[in-house]
Amino acid sequence: MSASSFSSLPPARKIIVAIDGPAGAGKSTVARHLARHFNLLNLETGAMYRAFALKALRADIPLQDSQHLEALAAETVIRLEPGEEENRVLLDGEDVTGLIRNQTVTDAASQVSVWPAIRAWLVRLQQQMGAEGGVVMEGRDIGTVVFPHAEVKIFLDAAPEVRGLRRYDQLGPKPAIQPEEVIRDLRARDERDRNRADSPLKPASDAVLLDSTHLTLDEVIAAAEAIVTAKLAQVHHGDGVGYAIPDGLPVAQEVVE
Ligand code: C5P
Repeated sequence: MSASSFSSLPPARKIIVAIDGPAGAGKSTVARHLARHFNLLNLETGAMYRAFALKALRADIPLQDSQHLEALAAETVIRLEPGEEENRVLLDGEDVTGLIRNQTVTDAASQVSVWPAIRAWLVRLQQQMGAEGGVVMEGRDIGTVVFPHAEVKIFLDAAPEVRGLRRYDQLGPKPAIQPEEVIRDLRARDERDRNRADSPLKPASDAVLLDSTHLTLDEVIAAAEAIVTAKLAQVHHGDGVGYAIPDGLPVAQEVVE
């Protein structure tokens, strides 16, 4: 191909990598790595639900009261600023990054996220943030709802006991909670995320399933990297839809409901 025919090609759109999956599957670690490796912005959408949950808790609004929550959302500004490690989360201008990871906010985030109006509001913001591409976006509904046309979709999963124990290990040397409790909380959150009427957690029909139950972190990262690399190669060569999937990684089946 001559140099002139290259210049007539339209500029490649920057890719969107969607990473979905249940709590504790390792999404954040993988997303952070992919962002660094492929020079993409890393956006953690769970932090937005967490920030709003914090505001609802502070305002003493019952998490079942969707009308009051909706009114609260109308006067709330949430911003994510990508950082080296984690996103900086601004709630009405206040940096709440360090206040949204405790168990109370975690539970509340999972409860406020069932409400369609809250989801619609945050999904719109997420779509604006990723509109230019060049992002890894992590959450529960990125490949199905936020960016159904994302170039790369990974659904990261692992057995609940494994996810719970990984979470437990992250709590430090002497956690005040038993591993069984962590697993129980995680299952409760999964249950709510998978069974809510609006945008339940499920793999997009064209997502690559990556089950990390029997993989080390390095192996998960290598597999995720291979998935993105294969897609980038396909984009570069201008192939049609569908791209090489590394051995052993099945494409998700459409979930029939
Ligand atoms: O990912 P993270 O654990 O921070 O998410 C907190 C909660 O926010 C999840 O348990 C889930 O209920 C909700 N969430 C969601 N959709 C997303 C991201 C998070 O419903 N895209």
